[in-house]
Amino acid sequence: MTPAAKTALALLESVITRLEHAEQREGQADMVRHVADAIHTGSTLVVQAGTGTGKTLGYLVPILAAGQTAVIATYTKALQDQLASVDLPLLEAACADTPGLSFSWAMLKGRNNYLCRQRVSEIETGHDQLQLNDVPRDVVREVGDLIAWANETESGEISDVPFSVGDAAWRKVSLGSDECPGAAKCAFGETCFTERARERARNANVIVVNFTLYGLDLEQDREFLPHHDIVVFDEVHELEDVISDTASVSLTGRMIASAAESARQALSKQKLANALAKTGKELDEVLGQYVGQRLPQPLPADLEGTISNAAHQCGLIHDELRATINETPELLRATAAISRMNESLSKVVTGGSNMVVFVTDVRGAARLTAAPKRVDHVLSELWDDTTAILTSATIPPGLPRRLGLTIEDDDIVRVASPFDYAKQSLLYLADDLPAPNDAQRPAKLQARIRELISLSGGSALVLFTSWNVLRDAADALDGKLGKGITLYRQDDMPKKALLAAFRDNHASCLFATRGFFQGVDVPGDALRLVILDKVPFPAMNDPLLDARRDEAGNSAFMTVDVPIAAASLAQAAGRLIRTATDHGVVAILDPRLSTKRYKSAVLYGVAHMPETNDLRQVQEFFASRLA
Ligand code: SF4
Repeated sequence: MTPAAKTALALLESVITRLEHAEQREGQADMVRHVADAIHTGSTLVVQAGTGTGKTLGYLVPILAAGQTAVIATYTKALQDQLASVDLPLLEAACADTPGLSFSWAMLKGRNNYLCRQRVSEIETGHDQLQLNDVPRDVVREVGDLIAWANETESGEISDVPFSVGDAAWRKVSLGSDECPGAAKCAFGETCFTERARERARNANVIVVNFTLYGLDLEQDREFLPHHDIVVFDEVHELEDVISDTASVSLTGRMIASAAESARQALSKQKLANALAKTGKELDEVLGQYVGQRLPQPLPADLEGTISNAAHQCGLIHDELRATINETPELLRATAAISRMNESLSKVVTGGSNMVVFVTDVRGAARLTAAPKRVDHVLSELWDDTTAILTSATIPPGLPRRLGLTIEDDDIVRVASPFDYAKQSLLYLADDLPAPNDAQRPAKLQARIRELISLSGGSALVLFTSWNVLRDAADALDGKLGKGITLYRQDDMPKKALLAAFRDNHASCLFATRGFFQGVDVPGDALRLVILDKVPFPAMNDPLLDARRDEAGNSAFMTVDVPIAAASLAQAAGRLIRTATDHGVVAILDPRLSTKRYKSAVLYGVAHMPETNDLRQVQEFFASRLA
C-alpha cells in the first residue's frame, strides 16, 4: 500500500468513529485507497461505487488527507444537500480536534442565484422604477420585500430567502453572467453577493457546485471558479448531457428582443434598438417554419439572412455604446448583453461538423439550438491539467471514452457493495406480456401491476416511460389495488411532499415517470417493489440523439440507445435497496428482454440481482420476507 493511501485510510478511521453508526465498509476503504493514489500521481480515476458504499467520504477523506483544493461537482440538489448537511460538517468536526489538519468548504452557485446590489439600488433609489411599470402588483410587492431583505441578508442567495418569491420578482433583482459587467466595473463590486461567495470559495479547501456551473465555467475559459487541484464529478453518468447543454447555444426571438431592450436603456438612438427588436420578431417567424427539424449547414438562406441581419445590428449598437462617454450601469449591462448576443449569433452560424443545429418548440416559442454531438473536446483540456475523480453508483458502458478519456470499461474501478443482493433482492422479468405496441397490452400490463402490488402489500414505486400509460394505469387501478392501499400519482403534489407521504404510508403506491428514476431515497419497508413498465429507451425524435445515431451508423442502437436505456434502468432499480436490511423486487414488464440480443447490455446495472421469469418466485420472495 502506498504512503498516500495509508495516510488517507488512517484519516478515514478517525472520521468514521464519529459517526453514530460507525462501521468499516470494505468498498469505502477500497475507494479511499484508489482515490488517494490517483491524487498522489495526478491521474484520472473512474470509480463505480454502488448505493451504501459511502462514496462521498470515499473521495472527501483522501482529498483532505492530501491537503489539496478540490471542486465537488454534483448533478442533483439532493446530493449537494447531503454533502452540505452531513459529510462536510463531519469532516470539519474531525479536523477541528486533529492537530495539523485544517479544513473549510463553501457552496458556490451561478450569478443569477444571488441578489445583484446594482439592480437593487437602481430600483430602491427610483432610478429604475420604469422596470416595475406594467408589472403585476404581487410581483411589485415581492420585489419590495426582496429589497428590504437585501439589507439584512449575509448571503443574498435565493435559497436563503425567508419568504416565497416568484421567478418574475427574482429576475428584477438579479443578473445573469451575460449582463453583469464584472466586479471591476461595478460600483457595488466590493459588496456584491456573488463576488463575496466567490471569495469564500477561494478561501475554502473544498467547493461544492453543480454540473451546470462547472460546464459554464469551462465555456467561459475557467474564469468564474477559483483554481483547484482536483475535480470530483459525482453522479458522473449525467455529465455528458449537462456538458452538451452548457456547450450549446440557443437563440429565440425573445432573447434578441431582450438584448434590444437592454440596449434601449443605454442608447440615445432608439432607432437601433427598435431595428434589433424587429429582427427578433422576424426570427420568430422564420424559425416557426422549421420547428421539429434538424437544419443543414450552411443554414437555410432565410434563416441565415435574419441571423446576419441581427449580427449587423448588434455590431452597430456595439459601436454606438463604445462611443458613449458616460459609463452608466445601463451602458455596461447593455454592452455585456450585446456582446454575448453577438457571440451566440456567430456560434450558431459557424457551427462546424461537430455541431447539430435544430429547432424545437419551447412553451409555444420556436428555439434554435446548436449543440455538440460529442463533448470529448470540451473536456480534453481539463483532463490534461486537473486531477479528476469520476464516480457514480452506475457508470454506463463506454462513458469514459465519450467524455474524452483513454480509459476502457475494464479499467473502471468497481468497489464492493455492502449489500447482499443475492439475499436482499429479486429481479422479475415478465416474459409473457404483450409487446409494447400490442392492443392487448394496456389491460394485461395493468392486471400484472395489480398482481405484483397485491403480492408486496403496497410499498411500490411504479415507474412509467410515458405519461399516457401512467394516466391510463392510474385511472384503471385507483381504488382497485386492495383494501387500504392508497395510489399516489406524480402530479398529486410537489415531489418532496409526495415522497414524504409515500414514505409515511407503507400501504401506498406511487405512480411516476422518469423524474423519479433518481433522487428517490426511501429506505426500509416503505419501498419493497419497483416496477418499470418497459425498458426506458430514449425518445426517437430527439434531434441531438438522432445526429449521434447518424454518426454511429449501423451500430447506433447498441452504442447510442442501449447505453442510455441501461443507465436509466440501473438508476430506477437503484431506488430499491438503500440499506443492508432492505429487501424487495424489481419487476420489468417488457417481454422484449426475453428475445432481444440487447438483454445483457440493458441489464448490466442489475446483473448482481438473482433473476426470474416466474411470478410464483416473486410470491415466495414476499411471503418469506413478510411472514
Ligand atoms: S458585480 Fe455584477 S452581479 Fe455584482 S452587484 Fe455588480 S452588476 Fe450586480
